Amino acid sequence: MGEELSRNGVHHKSNQDPERGSGSGLCSLLGSKDGDFLLSPTADLVKISDLQGKFIGIYFSANWYPPCRKFTKTLSNAYEQLKKCNVDPGFEVVFVSSDEDLDSFDEYRSSMPWLSIPFSATTTKRALNLRFDVESIPCLIILQPNYDDEQDSRIENGVDVIERYGAKAHPFTKERLEELTEEDKEKRANQTLKEMLTTPERDFLVSHSIPEKVSVASLMGETIGLYFSAQWCSPGEKFTPKLASIYHKIKQESTVDGNNDSFEVIFVSSDKDESSFDSHFYTMPWLALPFSDPTIKNLIKYFDVESIPSLVILSPDGKTVTKQGRNLINLYQEKAYPFTQVRIRSLEMKNDKEAENFPKLRYHSRHDHELTLVSEGKGGGPFICCDCDEQGFGWAYQCIDCGYEVHPKCVRDVEHDSVVES
Ligand SMILES: [Zn+2]
Ligand SMILES: [Zn+2]
Repeated sequence: MGEELSRNGVHHKSNQDPERGSGSGLCSLLGSKDGDFLLSPTADLVKISDLQGKFIGIYFSANWYPPCRKFTKTLSNAYEQLKKCNVDPGFEVVFVSSDEDLDSFDEYRSSMPWLSIPFSATTTKRALNLRFDVESIPCLIILQPNYDDEQDSRIENGVDVIERYGAKAHPFTKERLEELTEEDKEKRANQTLKEMLTTPERDFLVSHSIPEKVSVASLMGETIGLYFSAQWCSPGEKFTPKLASIYHKIKQESTVDGNNDSFEVIFVSSDKDESSFDSHFYTMPWLALPFSDPTIKNLIKYFDVESIPSLVILSPDGKTVTKQGRNLINLYQEKAYPFTQVRIRSLEMKNDKEAENFPKLRYHSRHDHELTLVSEGKGGGPFICCDCDEQGFGWAYQCIDCGYEVHPKCVRDVEHDSVVES
């Protein structure tokens, strides 16, 4: 008999692993049977004891995974900045590789300014993954100086912390993070259109009709959609015309209601050059920040825009209503306006009511397996519709076998007596 199962089904295994380095604290955590050392960027050996007294970021990552390579750049910036400022206590990073072969490990490691666990120390790497419950990469665990197994107050969402605050997160204590969260909250509670969209040199947005410049101040009191997109982004190609037609409908309806011009969209462009910006913007009926304006980068960071197209909705007083504008447009079209919680809740309730009459099982003409009706609470969640390629959440038809998922409105029913193998 090997491992024993306890009554609650948890595996119990001896903590004593003869292949791992002995000693306490960092050495037992990071050492291997070959000794208590790590690799420097130039592949020299560095003693683990040299790390005493520093904050240690244990960085789980892999060369083959683009989000990892992207985060490596962000972490490098913060790391170099902290080095330059000579912070005390210092910050060191230790890379724990999930690369499949030595070549990709070496290539990745040489792009990093910090230390690495040797590629051959597989037992140590596995133990670290288990020790810190690493479920996905990139993952950054930040240990306090003079790490001690007994009094372990580590920061587990290091990736999030560095992406959000960069070098400002130092010293990486719970108190510092609370302070930053507080600052952030205060900033967001006081955010204004002027602060977000203007610079000392520019207080207007551009339009391709007359007048060519529209002052930011004139938009106060309107619901605003910040539309993050770029011509090179193919989902944007589909979403832009859709948003344009809904934009016109919302404008039309608010004219009927008598409060003209209460909705405006502002294009925040990630286009690579001015000519693609021009031709792209020309397809849009709304305003834009000028091409390569410095506020664009700030807005992308401020709203955590991870993928485009993305639509952030601001209320008439300039506060953030939702970052899910694109989703809400896909789900509810012009009815989503003005995107407030009250509005969305009432649409959701209406949807739930309608879904009561939906068939629980259906076949869709583009998929061979049977699809099951799911909702957010019952096996569903945010998804990308396999039929129209747009995001969705709430009700969906899902293939339990292979995860194929479509909007209820996208299902085209087919007769399905027997499964046809293709
Ligand atoms: Zn769809
Ligand atoms: Zn399927």
